[in-house]
Amino acid sequence: MSVRVRIAPSPTGKLHIGTARTAVFNWLFARHNGGQFVLRIEDTDLERSRDEYTQNILEGLSWLGLTWDEGPFYQTKRLDLYRDKVKELLDKGLAYRAYDTPEELDAMREAQKARNEAPRYDNRHRNLTPEQEAAFVAEGRKPVIRFRIDDDREVSWNDLVRGKVTWKGRDLGGDMVIARAADAGDVGQPLYNFVVVVDDIDMQISHVIRGEDHIGNTPKQILLYEALGASVPQFGHTPLILNQAGAKLSKRDGVTSISDFQRMGYTAEAIGNYMTLLGWSPTEGMSELFTLEEAAKQFSFDRVNKAGAKFDWDKLNWINSQYLHAMPIDRLTDLLVPYWQEAGYPVNSEGDRSWLEKLTALVAASLERLEDAVPMTRYLFDPNLEYSEAAQTQLKLEGVGNALKGVITELEGVTDLTAEGAQAIVQTVVKAQGIKKGLLMKSLRAALTCDLQGPDLVESWILLHQHQMALSRLKQAVAIAESA
Ligand code: GLU
Repeated sequence: MSVRVRIAPSPTGKLHIGTARTAVFNWLFARHNGGQFVLRIEDTDLERSRDEYTQNILEGLSWLGLTWDEGPFYQTKRLDLYRDKVKELLDKGLAYRAYDTPEELDAMREAQKARNEAPRYDNRHRNLTPEQEAAFVAEGRKPVIRFRIDDDREVSWNDLVRGKVTWKGRDLGGDMVIARAADAGDVGQPLYNFVVVVDDIDMQISHVIRGEDHIGNTPKQILLYEALGASVPQFGHTPLILNQAGAKLSKRDGVTSISDFQRMGYTAEAIGNYMTLLGWSPTEGMSELFTLEEAAKQFSFDRVNKAGAKFDWDKLNWINSQYLHAMPIDRLTDLLVPYWQEAGYPVNSEGDRSWLEKLTALVAASLERLEDAVPMTRYLFDPNLEYSEAAQTQLKLEGVGNALKGVITELEGVTDLTAEGAQAIVQTVVKAQGIKKGLLMKSLRAALTCDLQGPDLVESWILLHQHQMALSRLKQAVAIAESA
C-alpha cells in the first residue's frame, strides 16, 4: 500500500509546537516509506480562522523543511463535497435531522448531571415521524444533522503507537452532530469530525497520525468511514508535549509557537531535531544530533513513546548550541545580522562584512541562541555603554590610569592593528612602567569592553580599533581611573 499522510492544522493560531511535532512525525513516516505528505488547512471555523495564521503555518512548516507534496487544500473551498456526503448519510438513513432547541439540550444535560450521568445526547429525535418533523418546522426550529451511533457497538483499532484501543459506542456521547443548524431541508455547515473523514477518504490518506488529544474522535470517525463505505486508514496517536508540571504544553507556558522559537534564535535544524526527540528514540548507535533526513531513514512507530514528552529548555538549548557552534561562519553571520539590526546596532552588512564575520567568529562558540549575540556584543557597538562596577573598581587600581595612557600613546597612529601588534604594545607598556602583565590585561579588558568577562580580549580590541572605538574607550577609562 502506498503511504499517504497529512497534517491538517486549523488556522486559529500560530503554528504550535505540538502541531509542528505532529507534522514532523508525518513527514518522517512519509519520507521513510517513499510516500506522500499532504497539507490541508482546516479553516471551517470561520469565526476563529485567520489568513495571517494560515501564512504563519505555511511559513513555519517551510522554515522547518517539512516540505509537502500536495496542497495546501482549504476546507472552505470544499464545502459542496461535505454537503453531498451529509446528504448521502441522510439518504441512507444513517443520519437524521434533530430539532432540539438549546434550552431543551441544556435541560437534558442538567437532568443527566442531577442523576450523576455523563452528559450525552439521548437520541430523542432519532425516530421522529414526518408529522413530528413538520410540527417542529412549523414552529420555526432549525435542525442540526446527527449521525447515528449505536450504543451497543464496539469500535477497535490497532494504534501505531498505543496498540489495540477499544471504545464502546455508549461512551461516544450519543448521536453526534455532523452539520450545524440550517433551515429545514437544507444542510448547515458540516463539522470537524465529519469533514476530516470526508477529506481523508477523498485524499486517500492511508495513515492518520495526530496528537493523542484526538484519540476520542477516532472511534466516531471510524464509524463514519464505515457509514460512507470507505476503508478505514491506520491511526497513530502521538504523545503530547508536556510542560515541566506534566500538563499539556499550552499558551500559558509562554513560548509555544514555531515563529516565537525562530525569533528567539533557535535554528530550524535544532527545532526539527529536538521535536523528533520529543516522542521518538533514535536507533541504537545513532547520535542524538541528526537532520530530519537522517531521522527519516530510521523512523518507525516502534520507537515512538506512549508517554507524554516533557519539554526541556536546557536540552533544546544544548542542541541549538551544537548547531550554532558547527555552523559555517558565513551562514551564522547571515543569521546574526538581523538580530543586530533589530537591536539598533549600526550594522552595515555589505560594507562591514569581513568585520562582522570576525565578530561572529569571536562569539560563535558561546552562543546558545542567536539572540544571545545581542548582549554579548553590545560593547562593540554602543559608544555610550556604561562600565560595570567591577570594571570601574579595576580601573581605579594603583597604576592603571598611567598604564592605559601608555597604551593610548602606543596605539595612536596605528591604522592596522594585528594580534602581534596588540601584544607588542602590551609588552612595551609592561616593560616601560614595570607593571605586571596580568594587571594590564585585566585593566585593558575593563577599559575596552566595560566589563571583566567576555570574548577574547585581543580580538575584541582589534575589532574595536577597526571601528574607531578603541581609543575613545581607553580615554574614557583613563578618566574613570583618574577620578579615583
Ligand atoms: N485540525 C485538527 C487540529 O488542528 C487536525 C485533526 C486531525 O489531524 O485529524 O488539531
